[in-house]
Amino acid sequence: MSRFFSARHAALDAYVPGEQPRDRKYIKLNTNESPFPPHPAVAEAVAAEAGQLQLYSDPTMKALSEAMAATLGVTPAQVLMVNGSDEALNFAFWAFCDETHPIAYPAISYGFYSVFAALHHIPAREIPLREDFSIDYRDYCGLDCAIVIANPNAPTGLALPLCEIEEIVKSNPDHPVIIDEAYVDFGAESAIALLPKYPNLMVVGTFSKSRSLAGARLGFAIAAPEMIADLNTIKYSTNPYNVNRMTAAAGLATLAHNDEAMANCRTVAATRERVKTQLREMGFDVTDSKANFLFAAHPAVSGESLYQALRERGILVRHFSTPAIANYNRITVGTDAEMDALIAAIREIL
Ligand code: PMP
Repeated sequence: MSRFFSARHAALDAYVPGEQPRDRKYIKLNTNESPFPPHPAVAEAVAAEAGQLQLYSDPTMKALSEAMAATLGVTPAQVLMVNGSDEALNFAFWAFCDETHPIAYPAISYGFYSVFAALHHIPAREIPLREDFSIDYRDYCGLDCAIVIANPNAPTGLALPLCEIEEIVKSNPDHPVIIDEAYVDFGAESAIALLPKYPNLMVVGTFSKSRSLAGARLGFAIAAPEMIADLNTIKYSTNPYNVNRMTAAAGLATLAHNDEAMANCRTVAATRERVKTQLREMGFDVTDSKANFLFAAHPAVSGESLYQALRERGILVRHFSTPAIANYNRITVGTDAEMDALIAAIREIL
């Protein structure tokens, strides 16, 4: 830390992304990327756009917002396209919360929620999960503060049904409820269907997982136009050109082939179910994930040792040292061949 770093941020415990090592070729099952490359139309669109990089991108993201709105069945005024859904979450925390407006979220969830709360000096209410890592929606009803819930949750993969999300949104009419749907396309129900009824609901999504664009950084927020306007105020106060030209072109080309992307999600979900069964047969405790990852622990080997042993065999999974989940690993669902290699390696280790 330099002596110039503001005291306001000195105590920040920054988010630690999953490792992206370059020392050898790994089977990468640690950061929930898609195992499938983007549609070939994406490379063509990006190459065409590269010739225009002397020009700024469209700060309104008009074409992309319209295509996104059409894909999701909402209006363009309900859409904000952003530089990865992390940015949408950051904007939302910044826009709707502050020192006297707390935010609640599950005690085990996406690590960035506590980081954004700390960054913006927002009191955080971390709500414990049940013993089996499930979320009791009643804990969030009438909370009297902003709420963010990942659905499916990370790293457990467990999803709440839409009726329970609706109870949470309905019972907190005077506070924003943000549903982070980074993994929704792999088998959960989207809360976008609730938007016409609830002006306090915001849904956040990403192209990083189900649409194979993690490296492009593209996310979105969907909400009532008034809430989107608030996020825009934050965006235009920080970085109006937050989505670059090549990413916008990649996003448009991806949405033009959305059916293929959704078919890839079904392939990933089918592989997930197969591997879940195999892991359970090997004695693992595996949650009933609806995401593109599995969350698994084995009684005979600690989470840390399994992580290390897999790493030595060239397979990366994600291990979290948080005590409540230290015995588990989060395993991204890759191709069938990658998952076969994982299962073979685990058999050997066990
Ligand atoms: N929400 C959740 C629950 C996530 O796991 C992730 C991925 N790290 C994100 C949001 C952010 O994804 P991105 O910024 O790549 O859109």
